[in-house]
Amino acid sequence: MNRILFSIATLSFLIISCSKKSSNTNTDFDAFKNRFIEAYWNIYPTSATSVGFHKFDSLLPAYDAVQRQKEITFSKTYLDSLYKFSANDLNDLNKIDYAMIENALQSIQFYVDTFKSWQWDPSGYNVAGAFADIVNANNIDSVSKYHFILERLNQVSKYYDAAKINIQNPTEVHTLLAIEQSEGTVSYLENDLKKFCGKFEIDDQLMPSDTLIFNAVAKIEEFKLYLKELKFDKQKDFRIGKELYERKFYFDMQSSFTAEEIYQKALNRKSELHTELFSLSRKLWSNYFQESIPSDSLKAIRMMIDKVSLTHAHRDSFMQEIEKQIPQLSAFVKEKNLLFLDPSKPIKVRRTPAYMDGVAGASINAPGPYDKNAETFYNVSTLEKKTSEQAESYLREYNHYILQILNIHEAIPGHYAQLVYANKAPSMIKTIFGNNAMIEGWAVYGEKMMLENGYEKSDEMQLMYDKWHLRSVCNTILDYCVHVKNWEEKTALNLLMNEAFQQEAEARGKWRRVSVSQVQLCCYFTGFSEIYALREELKKKSNFDLKKFHEQFLSYGSAPVKNIKQIMLK
Ligand code: ZN
Ligand code: ZN
Repeated sequence: MNRILFSIATLSFLIISCSKKSSNTNTDFDAFKNRFIEAYWNIYPTSATSVGFHKFDSLLPAYDAVQRQKEITFSKTYLDSLYKFSANDLNDLNKIDYAMIENALQSIQFYVDTFKSWQWDPSGYNVAGAFADIVNANNIDSVSKYHFILERLNQVSKYYDAAKINIQNPTEVHTLLAIEQSEGTVSYLENDLKKFCGKFEIDDQLMPSDTLIFNAVAKIEEFKLYLKELKFDKQKDFRIGKELYERKFYFDMQSSFTAEEIYQKALNRKSELHTELFSLSRKLWSNYFQESIPSDSLKAIRMMIDKVSLTHAHRDSFMQEIEKQIPQLSAFVKEKNLLFLDPSKPIKVRRTPAYMDGVAGASINAPGPYDKNAETFYNVSTLEKKTSEQAESYLREYNHYILQILNIHEAIPGHYAQLVYANKAPSMIKTIFGNNAMIEGWAVYGEKMMLENGYEKSDEMQLMYDKWHLRSVCNTILDYCVHVKNWEEKTALNLLMNEAFQQEAEARGKWRRVSVSQVQLCCYFTGFSEIYALREELKKKSNFDLKKFHEQFLSYGSAPVKNIKQIMLK
């Protein structure tokens, strides 16, 4: 309670201090941003921990009515302070920060008062991350970690009591997910956390960590049992419906298009891709098959894709293959004059460290905003632990062609290059509230742009690219149709397997993902569509230069494309 009073007092002090107008608006605005960020972390201490800001690591707020009111008050107060500035007086980078802060603050009210997943999604209540993020932090010492953990453990009981009060008519899928995840949380506390805490000598002043962990686990078990006993007679649909979907899309994507517009674009793109895929299959057919091509175009495409997928790396040289491709991608980007790549920031490929090696694959591992000295890596998992059957299936999926597209997406000129540019325009706001549609959209745009410029030009490459791109397109169609048009699992699987040529396991995984999340699956195609449309618009100008366009676009950091567009079209 003391903390709440304290923060309200802090807030009113801030309002007074930033209502005084001074001559240097950008300096004032920078100061406002710093106060906003710190106040934001005070309200969301576990999110703060997850990005490496540890000032509030001792807090684990129960999501009760008091906390919700605290969020609403924070949102309203800071919107008032924000509106004391006029976006027109700010420089371009601050203009974008202004829009992003406004969106973040308005989102708070939407999620608390309208979306209300805190009532129907029990999987939102999980303390594993609140502890794991402290344990894994690399910018605080172990003794501080230990004390923060003990303080958070003390609040677990209140946390789950509030959760039980909040839950009303939850959906069955989210309840099942919560039960499953709470098993993982119990296991984390009983094993990893206990092991970490066991390294410290018992402090007489504090309750021993074993007891605290024991109590916390008992509380999670109680919560799990409560969820298991819930009846789902008046089962709430996990589908959120058109109205909420459009609102969530607006806040999460920050797109200049509506969800429905993006959905229509995706439908058109899908049919273009099918036409192109069939024509490529016809062209390639006689090189790969003796028999004549089936008249069913989707069947023919599927057969062609399966055949071309057989060209792939050997399991033992998968990682070397990726390492070999990176300099080739850089050389191509340079030769074709597509984007300046800073030679002082070369990409570092490494084996995925064991502690983060879950699913095999490749991904960019970027340090958090408060972890400035940490390096960015391209993590690649080896296939050592896979059976020969699993490895073969994986290698076919990431075949010779798709593997190159994956490297374009993750590394050059995709995520890695984007990150290097984003770091040159340092903005805490853009790092903390980085727009996923822009980030994923850039990587997806990069794939197409490389092929447009003749990278690895062949019909096989184009075929595989189209298949890969169909995944982003169909993610959007799937997400929209399930949530807005009430699609059932069968219809969804048909889209993914027969029209997007996915394997059954992948398709079933996607169905699960779409039933527990909303909008997120749209970010790839939404961002891509916006960036592409912006480029085509700018191309109409006589002095258009592709390299300059890319560099200017990336210079604004991980900001929503619609805000970058406003500045670039000015
Ligand atoms: Zn093979
Ligand atoms: Zn990506």
